[in-house]
Amino acid sequence: MADIQTALDNQPAARTDEGAARQPVILINEIHKYYEMGETRLHALRGISLEIRSGDFLAVMGASGSGKSTLMNIIGCLDRQSSGEYFLEGRDVSRLDRRVLATIRNQRLGFVFQGFNLIPRTTALDNVALPLLYTHATKEERTQRATNSLAVVGLSDRSASLPSQLSGGQQQRVAIARALVNQPSVLIADEPTGNLDSRTSIEIMSVLQELNDNGLTIVMVTHEPDIARFAKRIIEIRDGRLRRDEPVAERFCAREILKTLPIPED
Ligand code: ADP
Ligand code: MG
Repeated sequence: MADIQTALDNQPAARTDEGAARQPVILINEIHKYYEMGETRLHALRGISLEIRSGDFLAVMGASGSGKSTLMNIIGCLDRQSSGEYFLEGRDVSRLDRRVLATIRNQRLGFVFQGFNLIPRTTALDNVALPLLYTHATKEERTQRATNSLAVVGLSDRSASLPSQLSGGQQQRVAIARALVNQPSVLIADEPTGNLDSRTSIEIMSVLQELNDNGLTIVMVTHEPDIARFAKRIIEIRDGRLRRDEPVAERFCAREILKTLPIPED
């Protein structure tokens, strides 16, 4: 009997659905990043450890030069750490070869940048469908999925528009739709409201909050404390080190704020 009890005591806890859902999507352990520049070596990240769980909405803050983009490039598999570990959805990223990494970037991660980065003279629908060209999706499936993705960001009626015919906020929503079209597990947004006025910024945060409410994990760099308050959790990088990691105390709800603002004239 005693042996059975010991065996029971030593059993790992059963994985519940809740536990499975809250597995870390991103697990970073003591990451360092050096940039070699001729004789000198710049120590950009100095031992960062971070766990981001499914459904998290993280705002990354910090002064210019603190290491935010370096960290985002590593999280986005665009660059590799010099030392330390990075597990994305349980996979050790440093052990994956370039082709697998490229597939992960395309299939598991979505990217949104400050400058929208849409292809000019290409319709909103074709911009959104672009990442599907690297998959096995048929033309019909590509159109269907891009159409669905545009609907998610509220731009069904602009699918035939060119980027030049859209406002900044609409272009950023097209970029978000493009980032979502492969149903990634993490959305990486580097200053997504950096080029937008404050009302439009809140509209974009409303889109991101709704996606996050539906389970999308978001990591967003921002300079602006007011934009960070739409996230659930704030970290601050200073001189390549993690200086702050805390939940957002008084979170903004973009949809509620938009209700209080006058309707803009077009
Ligand atoms: P942030 O995004 O917070 O402004 P970065 O991650 O871009 O900061 O930069 C962190 C530090 O690393 C800075 O000192 C920057 O000059 C340096 N750095 C960034 N990228 C490179 C690079 N490709 N080569 C050399 N140094 C770099
Ligand atoms: Mg930067």
